[in-house]
Amino acid sequence: MGVSGSGKTTLGLQLSEKLGLEFYDGDHFHSETNIAKMSAGNPLTDEDRFEWLESINEAAQKLVADKKSGIFACSALKEKYRILLSKNIENEIVFVYLKGTKDVIQARMNARKGHFMPSQLLDSQFNTLEEPQNAHEIDLTKSPEEMIQETLEKISLSEFGLVGLGVMGKSLARNLANNGVQLSLFNRFVEDKEVKVAEKFIESHDELNSAKGFEDLEKFCKSLQTPRKIFLMIKAGVETDEFIEKIKPYLQKGDILIDGGNSHFKDTKRRMDYLAESGLHFIGTGVSGGEEGALKGPSIMPSGDAAAYKNIERFLNKIAAKDKNGGNCCTYIGPDGSGHFIKMVHNGVEYAEMQQIAEVYALLRYKNGLNPDEISEIFHQWNAGELKSYLLEISAKILTKKENEKWLIDIILDQAGNKGTGNWTTVTATEMGIPATLITSALFARYVSTVREKYLNVPSNTEFESKPLDLGIVAKAYALARILNHQQGFGLIKTVSDEYNWSLNLSEIARIWTNGCIIRSTLMENIQEYFESAEDLFDVIEIKQQIVEFKGDLKRFCIAAMEAELPIPCMISANDYINTLNQDVHTANMIQAQRDFFGAHTYQRIDAERGKFFHTIWE
Ligand code: NDP
Repeated sequence: MGVSGSGKTTLGLQLSEKLGLEFYDGDHFHSETNIAKMSAGNPLTDEDRFEWLESINEAAQKLVADKKSGIFACSALKEKYRILLSKNIENEIVFVYLKGTKDVIQARMNARKGHFMPSQLLDSQFNTLEEPQNAHEIDLTKSPEEMIQETLEKISLSEFGLVGLGVMGKSLARNLANNGVQLSLFNRFVEDKEVKVAEKFIESHDELNSAKGFEDLEKFCKSLQTPRKIFLMIKAGVETDEFIEKIKPYLQKGDILIDGGNSHFKDTKRRMDYLAESGLHFIGTGVSGGEEGALKGPSIMPSGDAAAYKNIERFLNKIAAKDKNGGNCCTYIGPDGSGHFIKMVHNGVEYAEMQQIAEVYALLRYKNGLNPDEISEIFHQWNAGELKSYLLEISAKILTKKENEKWLIDIILDQAGNKGTGNWTTVTATEMGIPATLITSALFARYVSTVREKYLNVPSNTEFESKPLDLGIVAKAYALARILNHQQGFGLIKTVSDEYNWSLNLSEIARIWTNGCIIRSTLMENIQEYFESAEDLFDVIEIKQQIVEFKGDLKRFCIAAMEAELPIPCMISANDYINTLNQDVHTANMIQAQRDFFGAHTYQRIDAERGKFFHTIWE
């Protein structure tokens, strides 16, 4: 592709000869009307071009259907033309862009004879040209031999690189390959431990037969088209910094590193600024979905330099999950580390969602006296209705799993692990002064589970009436606790977005969380709609109604669990949060009075304007 006079036909013919492929001159697909129009010196309109582009696309589609390749010379000046040319063969098409200045091409045009396009139309060609983001650029001032050599080299290079073939990296690599992306894969070499990891992985999966495997960073980088697009799926933290130092010498200006690990959003901003000093782009990208999601379609949350993102957008969109309308569960989130920030909050919300299910399970098991199969059935039924969520679905499955006639859940050690994102969410919420009490409770529940072995064993000695709690009450209590968790999570996102001027779109964030990610649910689909017109879930009429309607159920759930001496910190937090919404009950005034008493910290009064502070001599 390129403007008229850039030498597409000459290069195309020579390439077709060299590669033994059929050559198609785009000009030959023009209708008589188009040729007459151009010959009369009139530029073609979009409408004139569509039929022409469609006929080229049909010819290309036929080639693909016949499992053949071919070379087409076509100006393809606008992005929408290239999209049309790629219709149904998006993964099969490679664009080579012959790039040159108007002066150089003008001189060539003036020297040409017998071509139906007069050289004065060049201006209109340049005005129409939208330079491609995803094409191999060839400098047309080079000699034909050099251009052929360069084109051949470039089309044999991989489009996309991936580093780190652990659980997530392997699944993402297979997902990319299944979507027709030409890949280079890298995994580090560690003597006697990590040897030829990439090569062995490629050998064991058919879909990777055109991928290249490396354990030498320089060779890996050299195998990639520029600007290089390299997805890092390695251990987050200091390992990511160390790896950046190792790969940096082999990168060049304009290359793009995409960090898909669970990095802290402040680290992402630091890395972004650091790499920008060398003209390198760093796109911090949240990825959610676990091993299976990464393979079949994760939710992807990229942020950073918007122009650099344009270069990688089509790769991420290809592998992302799809929402209910077929949209990609991947969207440009915003500047800086905002993608990693929302991934962090996603994980925080996930902690509370998981803990709530664990607490509901505890009540049904130890208060209502149901066995795991029976609880699984209840979860299964709930999952067929409004409470539907991925986490509920997998919990229903978990509860039926048996090993040697025993439920596996009863064999699993009662200690919850964590990798830090819940901690980061809690720290961020406390730094920002935002209540994320449900997430915090869920996080501390995990911490308590790991230390309680060392504590005193206090068995239950309370005699309580073991009347089971009505399942309708349990379901509504659980529904309300989930709403409150999401209200707090999105509240944190909104506050941080305002603080950093990120202008994050809450509805769009909810949309990309409706599929692919761990917290996908029917509630999330509703939240996407609520945020189209509201900024806080508490401003949504349906939410307010559910709070009023389910409040008593949440209270009864907590009372029943407390009577049965069950630890339910997350549900209690939810109930406490509801109680703080009752504006007739006051406790913070007591705090202010105490602060003023011992520290002269002053207080505001309800009978004076806000912002005016008073001090009392208390005794
Ligand atoms: P794994 O532990 O399975 O894989 C980690 C990968 O990082 C391996 O390829 C490992 O290489 C590589 N690695 C570790 N240390 C270094 C180093 N110093 N230099 C170069 N490479 C290194 O982890 P996951 O695949 O689960 O996770 C990868 C990233 O994705 C993490 O940041 C994680 O937080 C994030 N993530 C994980 C999700 C999940 O569900 N598991 C979901 C979303 C994000 P080697 O094999 O040679 O040790």
